[in-house]
Amino acid sequence: MSATQTLPFDSQQFDSAIKKQCRYLNVENPQQLTLQQWYQAVSQAVLDLSYADSKPPVSGLRHVNYLSMEFLIGRLSGNNLLNLGWYEQVRSYLQQYQIELSDLLEEERDPALGNGGLGRLAACYLDSMAAIGQPATGYGLHYQYGLFKQSFADGRQVESGDAWSRNQYPWQAYSSGRTRQIGFGGKSKKLDGDKYQWTPALLIEGKAYDLPVFGYKNGVVQPLRLWQADNEQVFDLALFNDGKYLKSEKQVVDAASLTKVLYPNDNHQNGQKLRLMQQYFHCACSVADILDRHFSDGYNLQQLPQKQLIQLNDTHPTLAIPELLRLLLDKYNVAWDEAWDICNRTFAYTNHTLLPEALEQWDQRLFKRLLPRHFQIVDKINGIFQQQVIEQFGEDAEIWQKVAILYDYRVRMANLCVVACFAVNGVAQIHSNLIVSDLFPEYHQLFPNKFRNVTNGITPRRWIRLANPNLANLLDRTLDGDWTRDLALIGGVEKQVNDSGFREEYRRIKQGNKQVLAEEIERSLGLRVNCEAIFDVQIKRFHEYKRQHLNLLNIIHSYQQLKDNPNMDYTPRLFVFAGKAAPGYYLAKNIIHAINNVAQVINNDKSVKDKLQVAFLPDYRVSLAEKIIPAADISEQISMAGKEASGTGNMKLALNGALTLGTLDGANVEIAEMVGAENIFIFGHTVESVRALLQGGYNPKSYYKRNKALKSAVDFLRKGKVCGGDKAMFELMLNSLLARDPFLVFADFDSYVAAQQAVGLRYLDQESWLSSAILNTARLGAFSSDRSIRDYQKRIWQ
Ligand SMILES: *Cc1c(COP(=O)(O)O)cnc(C)c1O
Repeated sequence: MSATQTLPFDSQQFDSAIKKQCRYLNVENPQQLTLQQWYQAVSQAVLDLSYADSKPPVSGLRHVNYLSMEFLIGRLSGNNLLNLGWYEQVRSYLQQYQIELSDLLEEERDPALGNGGLGRLAACYLDSMAAIGQPATGYGLHYQYGLFKQSFADGRQVESGDAWSRNQYPWQAYSSGRTRQIGFGGKSKKLDGDKYQWTPALLIEGKAYDLPVFGYKNGVVQPLRLWQADNEQVFDLALFNDGKYLKSEKQVVDAASLTKVLYPNDNHQNGQKLRLMQQYFHCACSVADILDRHFSDGYNLQQLPQKQLIQLNDTHPTLAIPELLRLLLDKYNVAWDEAWDICNRTFAYTNHTLLPEALEQWDQRLFKRLLPRHFQIVDKINGIFQQQVIEQFGEDAEIWQKVAILYDYRVRMANLCVVACFAVNGVAQIHSNLIVSDLFPEYHQLFPNKFRNVTNGITPRRWIRLANPNLANLLDRTLDGDWTRDLALIGGVEKQVNDSGFREEYRRIKQGNKQVLAEEIERSLGLRVNCEAIFDVQIKRFHEYKRQHLNLLNIIHSYQQLKDNPNMDYTPRLFVFAGKAAPGYYLAKNIIHAINNVAQVINNDKSVKDKLQVAFLPDYRVSLAEKIIPAADISEQISMAGKEASGTGNMKLALNGALTLGTLDGANVEIAEMVGAENIFIFGHTVESVRALLQGGYNPKSYYKRNKALKSAVDFLRKGKVCGGDKAMFELMLNSLLARDPFLVFADFDSYVAAQQAVGLRYLDQESWLSSAILNTARLGAFSSDRSIRDYQKRIWQ
């Protein structure tokens, strides 16, 4: 392990670095800087100084190349100051200018280079690898527009472009000398043996921009390298008489340069050509860079698997496999068997979903046109694999239909990954089990040792220390040793659960955080909320499987009960929502609209004031998550069992003292085991009972007809102000529920309502609630992403 050592902070050096920034900004002295300029100047100054004495992490370990189309890094300035150990020094430096560091940090726009959990996981993992000294490079794309910004108009989601001003972002450095030419289209011609010559029809230039990833107070800094396509530099090699092809290719690229936008789908494939081009561009730039680094470190190709590990974050970077094979075969003259062996020992694949609509498949003709040489390689892998399948199972068309890489004019990326990688992991225990039992049972028979589990985690630096400084401070005073570095130490909190002083502080911190969120809600929505209410939060992407509409139906049900019986016992609640829907996912957008309109009716009804309120905060992103999470009492994790691979929002919330209200899905299962049944609210169908229910023929309409509470909650959405008299307003959602209800919202309604009643009762016993909250913090240290990375090291990277 590398010695833990903070880079020294030299305030005189820092002062001159700031003054240098003033000159760049054309400002005479720091007094004249605007807050925005202060943010720029401080970040840039820190970046300049921090590279000076940085060191690489411990050697001897394989270098991990983490390939991901998304890195949802969030704001970097505060995080980097924290990890460098310079936060306090910079804070006091700024006081001489009457600048509050926390105000300055609010000036940073989140680089939203990801959609949701998958991209955020990649960011937590980079943080953890740097923290524990795992040599690593993150490889991604430098999108000009991150995930769209969300606002609401009459309750409907409105999207606008997020130009996060990558050109002025202070934390990035253009890495000259790494520029690549990436080919597309053209022809592939056979030469000798396994070797071909690919002559692309089009080349696009890729440029590298590095963001620094600082290890927590250990002097380590390593890159997140993001590739940008240069629109101006697009040119063609008119080597072939392929004029028409060239023209259409150019149109695509000119219309929207390759790395202009992040595709806004979460858990859903976009089959567009531009997306496939992005994927190849990402992979080709990254693989070339990995080989360059490998060679410049003095190693040869045979040493690649020993020195380099390429971790594929879902199937989005699968093309790195045929790309490396292509280079080995065609550029370095390696024979097929050896090239295959090198690849097979270098790549590992993380599966993130079982949802069929999210499993990537590409149209074979598109693939072949864009990547003719890669198609040949994939075809060969498929052919060799077919022989292996026949040896194991005989000629069995049904089995081949499931495991083929090429089938029905489609290229199936997950299958290619499973065949070509030495390890396949799921992201929570239940998910890893389902990969083997439901998604890839035949593959498991073929390759029993490939399948592993690494349960996701979250970085305690951002999600506790930065997001919840008062809790962090209490932990500092309570625990021996630095829990920020070793979250297992947080277990020491359990000893304090009966200490009245500790309890009082913990309670006050949560209450204070609720107050702060209440102010944010008032600023953002003009809604004054009751801080004594249960803060019940559901913050995540909108997706039917996540079932925000189940939450909504219970809210309507509670409202109807309160209207019918104003004096009933009801523990006051504030329901907080945040999350975006993909712009083309109309049903999810319809759910957003319904929540906003219900919120409007409830929040304007004086008869339920201070008992029931709904706050939907727009534009969910990392910096908003950091504000909501510390204030939550209840964490809604209510996906249909078997659908949420892991979740990480569940971990962030529970560690910050929210009690989970959830199904036995994803990492909720492990959270439940660790906190104990008394400290969590579990409801709903399980994976097994879902299976039984669906086998018996699920009929949602019969639930609707039989269940009065459910029926009137559903019918509410077709009446009165909530739909402005337009009964069809929420038809998309309602018709889906009534006709098919693919995620069993109706089947889980009763159980969910009962669990919500249990929550309300439990909250009345404030002391018991407080104990549970404290035990959630104490018992979930294993959800640090440092532990996840150590699991990767032990189980996959060796
Ligand atoms: C953690 C996080 C997510 C993932 O949330 P889930 O509840 O696990 O889906 C998505 N978006 C942001 C901004 C996050 O911080």
